[in-house]
Amino acid sequence: MNDRIVRVEGVERVFTGRRSAVHALGPIDLEIERGQFVAIVGPSGCGKSTLLRIIAGLDAPSAGEIVIARKQPTGPLCSMVFQDYGIFPWKTVLANVRLPLDIAHVRRAEANATAREWLVRTGVEGFAAAYPHTLSGGMRQRVALARAFVAHPEMLLMDEPFAALDAQLRLVLQQELLRVWEAHRRTILFVTHSIDEALLLADRVIVMSGRPGRILDDIEVPFPRPRSRDARATAEFGALEERIWNLLKGTVEADEPARVSA
Ligand code: ADP
Ligand code: MG
Repeated sequence: MNDRIVRVEGVERVFTGRRSAVHALGPIDLEIERGQFVAIVGPSGCGKSTLLRIIAGLDAPSAGEIVIARKQPTGPLCSMVFQDYGIFPWKTVLANVRLPLDIAHVRRAEANATAREWLVRTGVEGFAAAYPHTLSGGMRQRVALARAFVAHPEMLLMDEPFAALDAQLRLVLQQELLRVWEAHRRTILFVTHSIDEALLLADRVIVMSGRPGRILDDIEVPFPRPRSRDARATAEFGALEERIWNLLKGTVEADEPARVSA
């Protein structure tokens, strides 16, 4: 790999309580290339969110290290997008999207212009003056996406961003994310529960085991870009889906209590 942005080396995370400890994650070894779209799938509680938080610097590993190769020493390293939007209810849509630019002391006129461009790209330009509570879930998630991109981070860390949306809306936002990403390639780490979503969006799918989450498989996704849902109709898509499902099925079954045969 010649242009690596993140190297995760022997990373583990143990949460210690007063009386017990949970080995949540690892050891994980992972290298991510700049500009790559990487999806992470794995059973609930296997440490996916913990891994993203550690990469973002919001949490520290109990062992191992994260090495980040920055290209822009002054701008933000990462933006995060969560399932629950994380936008501020007391700010208008425009002010929410402009926030990273305000924090960076970008001049107001320029910041407004840039924020408006992203509102157009994510399809919420008509809602610049609206407050988040007046918007649907899909609109709010578009605002969150616009804000994540406007900051011009080196990496976007997305933690099940579409999980709370209904199925049709999720399809629409997947297409919009693909379109925006294909035009403005950034490194994306995208956690999802959906094998289908991972294969549709990503260049590479990391499959994690049950807790403590380790990497079971690391799969290249070969479909050409620009991509649409047509990729799903190919036999190759079905084969990859099957391969990932077989791995995940094992992690789900391992979670269940052992059956006693009569
Ligand atoms: P995932 O995102 O894959 O569902 P998480 O990273 O949220 O999993 O959590 C992994 C495991 O670590 C879970 O068992 C969870 O309960 C535990 N965990 C996560 N954060 C904390 C914390 N701050 N304190 C204690 N345990 C935690
Ligand atoms: Mg999670």
